[in-house]
Amino acid sequence: MVFVRKRGAEAGSGKKRGIEMADLGNFTNTSEILKKYQFRMQKKYGQNFLIDANILVKIVEAAQITKEDYVLEIGPGIGTMTQYLAEAAGRVTAVEIDRELIPILEETLSSYENVTVLCEDILKVDLAALAEENGGRPVKVVANLPYYITTPIIMALFESRMPLASITVMVQSEVADRMKTGPGSKDYGALSLAVQYYAKPEIVARVPASCFLPRPNVDSTVVRLTRYEKPPVEAADETFLFAVIRASFNQRRKTLANGLANAPGLGVTRGQVETALEEMGLAPMVRGETFTLEQFAELSARLLQMRK
Ligand code: SAM
Repeated sequence: MVFVRKRGAEAGSGKKRGIEMADLGNFTNTSEILKKYQFRMQKKYGQNFLIDANILVKIVEAAQITKEDYVLEIGPGIGTMTQYLAEAAGRVTAVEIDRELIPILEETLSSYENVTVLCEDILKVDLAALAEENGGRPVKVVANLPYYITTPIIMALFESRMPLASITVMVQSEVADRMKTGPGSKDYGALSLAVQYYAKPEIVARVPASCFLPRPNVDSTVVRLTRYEKPPVEAADETFLFAVIRASFNQRRKTLANGLANAPGLGVTRGQVETALEEMGLAPMVRGETFTLEQFAELSARLLQMRK
């Protein structure tokens, strides 16, 4: 479902206009609108709505949005951040899975002619087609993400053929830390490597649970991922590189040689991994969690060559 509402459509009509300006970012107005529509929060959709205007301003500022920008918002909820984005950006598309929120969004976004709401699952949206429909401009993604699908969303954004400029999102603090960390840390894994291959990750703000309704029982952090024009390492084959990375961390307790040889679909033998490691001057017992992005790129290029 798509709708577009025109700014000022009801001006002078004498009708009650409801909450249409960027003023939902507080407890009182959020509660009022939820009550008006008798909306019941759905835990399964990760619904924790932002009720702090300072954080909303901080997120939109960190995303560095101008009137030239096309913004994709994931999960607009009742439209709180969407209002701020609509004021700052040229165009906004907001993708919301919960159809119960659509009547609310029709009210809260009715003043903005530059917003389109799609009632869909973000993981099923053809992102490249969406960007094309909006002139093929670089896309800035901004969201207070549903935490239950943070990693699939981030991966889908990077792996889509969408011209992505940046991702500025609220995530669980633990996930933000995983995005930034390097080899040797317990948080280091496939997500760290994927994020650092595609983008420069920066922490924007730590956000207390009191800024949400209802309060989440985890800590939250806003991160900005600025897409590199060119990844910091050269991958012979990106799909194979990430298959190697995922296989290495799927079997954390195994050595790299055992983990990769056991990985279904990778098509490499234990002997090939050991030879590649030896050629790289590394011990056969080495583990994936100590490997840098450069080392994964080199290892996967060598294995690819051997598979041929
Ligand atoms: N942006 C709002 C805010 O900051 O107050 C709401 C953020 S809330 C943490 C996450 C939102 O994502 C909810 O509105 C939820 O319904 C929506 N959502 C959950 N899963 C989704 C999916 N697969 N595709 C699109 N939206 C989804």
